[in-house]
Amino acid sequence: MGQISLNDVTKTFDDGSIVAVDDLNIEIADGEFLVLVGPSGCGKSTTLRMIAGLESISAGDISIGDVRVNNLEPRERDIAMVFQNYALYPHKSVRENIGFGLRLSTDLSNAEIEERVEDAAEMMGIEDLLDDKPKQLSGGQQQRVALGRAIVREPEAFLFDEPLSNLDAKLRTHMRTEISRIQQELGVTSIYVTHDQAEAMTMGDRIAVLNDGQLQQVGTPNEVYDHPENRFVASFIGSPSMNFVDATVDVRDDGTYVVAKSGADTLSYPVDDVAAELALEDGQSLEVGVRPEDIRHVADDEAPDERVQTAPVEVVEPMGSDNFLHVDLNGVTWTSRVDSRYEPDPGEQFTFTFDLDALHLFADDGTTIKS
Ligand code: ATP
Repeated sequence: MGQISLNDVTKTFDDGSIVAVDDLNIEIADGEFLVLVGPSGCGKSTTLRMIAGLESISAGDISIGDVRVNNLEPRERDIAMVFQNYALYPHKSVRENIGFGLRLSTDLSNAEIEERVEDAAEMMGIEDLLDDKPKQLSGGQQQRVALGRAIVREPEAFLFDEPLSNLDAKLRTHMRTEISRIQQELGVTSIYVTHDQAEAMTMGDRIAVLNDGQLQQVGTPNEVYDHPENRFVASFIGSPSMNFVDATVDVRDDGTYVVAKSGADTLSYPVDDVAAELALEDGQSLEVGVRPEDIRHVADDEAPDERVQTAPVEVVEPMGSDNFLHVDLNGVTWTSRVDSRYEPDPGEQFTFTFDLDALHLFADDGTTIKS
């Protein structure tokens, strides 16, 4: 079984002065596709390299299948790794590149190796390129060869380290789908490192979000998007990013409100239905978060409610099916994702509102109060 367990895994460098990975605990089920995502320097590559055996572990345990692998060499771990730079042998043909690892590590016959190489090449759609050298291939084709080389080994797990970073945007999107398809077809446990949250959202069965070497949240893409466990996850996942505004709790005679401060403007949101459950206290400071797609344009002929705001449009970013509007409410920028048919000019007034359901609340220490 190809489950992978990380138990209290820590990695330090420079005699402990750099903590790259801090007490990480993650269980990856057999056949699962887990994406490790986070900003540059958060420790994702180091985590993957420890699983691969390319980096030693400072503390904790890593198991692949039922085997504790802490002290095993990379080649003893039954994993195949796919890198950003493909790592192909330039003087070997595609056929030799794909079959090379098998020749070294197994006692399969030449005919068996040849059959497996051809099957892998077919799966990757590169069967016509088997006699070419890497330099004759495009970046996308080279990455397919690298994937073919991983598949042919029939390993317990695939480890991907930003494998699509060198490809152009269109090819990257295409290869995401290809990798997901192959992973599902083969059912091999996979860990995929990326700093691209869109890649994480589209590819992972589950996503593990890291920051500063620490696990912030692990969950399905929907869980992480809709119910971020803290402000960091809320801000990192989603593009454009969630809007954040400082606020305080105001307990009045007629109920409990969250009062958001957008520059000189204060905007009151009634939160009676959740106030008791969330133990909100009068005067408590917190942060309000609203996703751009939850900020809705209020048309001129629509009856306004008390939460409607109006602010001048600063920038319109056309994205094809949507427009991203950046509006300035007393010095605080709010971003709204609207239908591309609504296309105001910069300087025009944008009237908007959002449902209370869409309101996220974060405590001062960054933990989620409501999502
Ligand atoms: P990126 O997306 O930029 O590759 P990452 O999330 O993969 O970043 P890591 O490469 O794992 O991050 O690095 C985590 C931290 O450990 C960083 O602060 C990095 O500078 C540090 N680090 C990594 N390798 C070493 C090393 N060999 N010696 C010292 N510090 C290191």
